[in-house]
Amino acid sequence: ENLVSAYVSDAERDAEASVRPKRLDEFIAQHRVRDQLDLLLKGAMRRGSPPDHILLSGPPGLGKTTLANIVAAELGSGIRVTSGPAIERSGDLAAILTSLAEGDVLFIDEIHRIARPAEELLYSAMEDFRVDVVVGKGPGATAIPLDVEPFTLVGATTRSGLLTGPMRDRFGFVAHLDFYTPAELEVLLRRSARILGVPITDEGAAEVAGRSRGTPRIANRLLRRVRDFAEVRADGVVTLETSRAALTVYDVDALGLDRLDRAVLTALVDSFRGGPVGLSTLAVAVGEQPDTVEEVCEPFLVRAGLLARTPRGRVATEAAWHHLGRTPPNGTFG
Ligand code: ADP
Repeated sequence: ENLVSAYVSDAERDAEASVRPKRLDEFIAQHRVRDQLDLLLKGAMRRGSPPDHILLSGPPGLGKTTLANIVAAELGSGIRVTSGPAIERSGDLAAILTSLAEGDVLFIDEIHRIARPAEELLYSAMEDFRVDVVVGKGPGATAIPLDVEPFTLVGATTRSGLLTGPMRDRFGFVAHLDFYTPAELEVLLRRSARILGVPITDEGAAEVAGRSRGTPRIANRLLRRVRDFAEVRADGVVTLETSRAALTVYDVDALGLDRLDRAVLTALVDSFRGGPVGLSTLAVAVGEQPDTVEEVCEPFLVRAGLLARTPRGRVATEAAWHHLGRTPPNGTFG
């Protein structure tokens, strides 16, 4: 199990469900998005028509699925959940669309991965609330127009840059979710702890928050692991000491780096004098695939200001040297 990955397994979804906010006012932080959504939903309810289609973009684990469910709950509507990769044929999508009840929310996760023919079907459903379903093959094929009840599409994407222009244009409301500050994650952790019945001190919450990579999913996951530790090896209270001891057992360091993240930085600093070094050379040095280093480790290392990608290769920043407890060679950083 990778404790600091922002991606979620099906098993973890169940664990997440218990702490998932159900209403907009329980959703922590992201005040601008919350405020805008509040207006969008209340305006639509006053008029008695479904709100504009909503696009939520941002890295995994920041609350897109949660917000989609909140939109349905606030509207008092039903929700259907699917994902771009799950819609293989446009017929699959037509079946979902034509089965929606008036005012339903349709949530499509990873909407940038939807197949092209299905995407085109979605355009007409979003715009005109109708779809043309093609029956038969070859010269005898006919398109049968079917009505779709007025609905609201909530699309989520981790890669908004991959969305086609026509797709993006059909969303009346686009919101980007950003990483959370440690202070925001502290509030989130105290709320989760309250729901789970876990006693936590302010220092304990701050310690876990600081190691959570700005990501609610990771914060909630670390809380579950720290709770185990506190219950099994201590008196059940999540304090500064139990958090530190637990996260040492799980190899999550003070900045939220795991073993592989640290291996990458250590190789960069110790074997390549801080770089620059090419991605594949660096990957060999830590015994991983270049893709894993690039997609799993680097995004966070770059965001944390520990690693820079330059045209000549990967470079450890001054902060990386200090984080590893090393002194950069004289003159390296001006
Ligand atoms: P995404 O769909 O962006 O990958 P999720 O909506 O599944 O992320 O959120 C991951 C976990 O973090 C869930 O357990 C959710 O309850 C929690 N979470 C996310 N954002 C918030 C928030 N703003 N307030 C409280 N909990 C949150």
